Amino acid sequence: MIRQTYGAKDAHRGVDGTFMWFMQEVGELATALRGGSAAERAHEFADVLAWLATLANVCGVNLEDAVRHKYGGGCPGCGASPCRCDQSEKP
Ligand SMILES: [Zn+2]
Repeated sequence: MIRQTYGAKDAHRGVDGTFMWFMQEVGELATALRGGSAAERAHEFADVLAWLATLANVCGVNLEDAVRHKYGGGCPGCGASPCRCDQSEKP
């Protein structure tokens, strides 16, 4: 969806410029998490996901396929869903 909507513009911006926009949106999400309303947090989550998808598109990565490949069968560590990995590994 992001590629269809913005793909032509994104190709001109390139990886470096797109990464900077992605990081700016991560910063805005951090701000929203610290004091924003529920609507503001939802807005920033959407922006971060959209810019992550844009970055993947610019890099030639199909984000949907990548996530499905890595996490579609459950936790990559233990293979279960929900994950049964030891919590101490990633507190
Ligand atoms: Zn696991």
